[in-house]
Amino acid sequence: MNKYTLAQRFEQAYQTPASGTVSAPGRVNIIGEFTDYNDGFVLPAALTFLTQVAYCQRSDQRIVVRSSMYPDEVEQFSLTEPITSGDSQWGNYIRAVVFVLHRAGHQLCGVDLLIDSDVPQGSGLSSSAALEVAITGMFNHVCQLGLSLEQIALLGQQAENDFMNCQCGIMDQLISATGIAQHAVLIDCQNLASSAIKIPDDLNLVIVNSNYPRKLVESEYNQRRIDCEQAANIMGVTSLRHADLPLLQAHKSKLSDTQYRRAHHVISENNRVIAATTALAANDMDQLRQLMTASHQSLKFDFEVTVPATDGLVEICQQAVGERGAVRMTGGGFGGAIVCLCRAEDVIVIKQAINQQYHSRFGLHADVYVCQAGAGLTINPN
Ligand code: ADP
Ligand code: MG
Repeated sequence: MNKYTLAQRFEQAYQTPASGTVSAPGRVNIIGEFTDYNDGFVLPAALTFLTQVAYCQRSDQRIVVRSSMYPDEVEQFSLTEPITSGDSQWGNYIRAVVFVLHRAGHQLCGVDLLIDSDVPQGSGLSSSAALEVAITGMFNHVCQLGLSLEQIALLGQQAENDFMNCQCGIMDQLISATGIAQHAVLIDCQNLASSAIKIPDDLNLVIVNSNYPRKLVESEYNQRRIDCEQAANIMGVTSLRHADLPLLQAHKSKLSDTQYRRAHHVISENNRVIAATTALAANDMDQLRQLMTASHQSLKFDFEVTVPATDGLVEICQQAVGERGAVRMTGGGFGGAIVCLCRAEDVIVIKQAINQQYHSRFGLHADVYVCQAGAGLTINPN
C-alpha cells in the first residue's frame, strides 16, 4: 500500500492539485459467457475493486498520463495529431479511448492523469474495461460531452474492438459503467435492457485466478466470434440469440462440427442465464450449482475455452464446497479465473483445498479474491 493518497501522489507528479477523481470497477461474470456478442444474456456483477483516475485539465492540447502500476513511465501525446498506437501497451488503452471519442466527433481538452487500480490485471476481472470506462467517464465529465452510461460503455467497447483489436462484446464495459452495489445485473445484450438482482447476503463471490500463462488469447477469442457468426448465418438468423435448440438440430448437417458446438454453447448458455437469474434471486444453491456446472462443461467441450488448470481449479473448489457451492470458469477463458458462489464459512475450505492440491497438480499458484458486488462508474469532483 502506498502511504500517499491518490490526490497527494497526483500533486507530487504534476505540481498541481487534481480537480477530482473518477473510478470504474472490475467485474465478475456469474454466468453467460460468450453470449454478449451473440446478442444474448449475461449476469455479471461489478466488484469493489476499482480503477481510479485523478485528473486536472491542462491549458494545452496534450494528454499526459501516469499509472502507479508503471511508475517509471509517462505516456503522452497530442490531441492535435492523428491518434496511432504507441510503444506502451497500457498507454494504448488511453489512446484507444481518445481515438474513438475523436471518431465520434467529440471535442476533447488536454488533461494530466494519474491512474491507480486494485483490479488485478489479466485475471479475468476486466481491468481493461475498468480502465476504458474510467478514462471515457473522465473525459465525459471534464469536457462535458453529455454521454450516457450506456454510451460510455459502447465507446469503451469500441476502443477495445477497433484500436486494441480484441473483439469483445459489451458486457465488461456495460457492467463497469452501470454496476450496482450488492447486485448482479441481468443484461439483454440485444437492446442493453438490464435488471438488478440482489445477491443474497449470505452468498460470497470467490474468484480464483489460475495464473495460467495465457497465450494466443486474442486470436482464439476472435476466432470464436467468427465461428458464432458463421453458424448464425447458416441457420438464417441475424445472431445466435434468434436461434433455439430445435433450429440448431434442424441445421446440424449443414454446420461443421465446430460451428455446431459453438452455437450449442451459446444457445444453451442463454437458457442457463435466465434460469440462473431466477435461482440467484431465490438463493437456490442446488439450481445455481447445476447451471454453473453445466455452463463450465459447455465451455469445456462445446466452446473449448478452458484449460486443464481452470478445469482442475473448478474440480478442486467444487469438491471442497460440495453441495454448498456453485463453481465455473469466468471471463474470456484460455486460463484466467474461476468463480465460486458459496457461504462465508466455506471460503476457508476452498483456500485449504487449493493450497493442498493446485500447485502440486499444475505447478502454479492461484490467487483467491473474496469479492463484494460494487457500484459502477463514479465521478468524485473535489
Ligand atoms: P483483464 O482485462 O482481464 O484484466 P487485459 O489483458 O484485457 O486483462 O487487460 C490488462 C491490461 O490493461 C494491462 O496489461 C494494461 O495494459 C491495462 N491496464 C489495466 N489496468 C491498468 C492500470 N491500472 N494502469 C495501466 N494499465 C492498466
Ligand atoms: Mg480485458
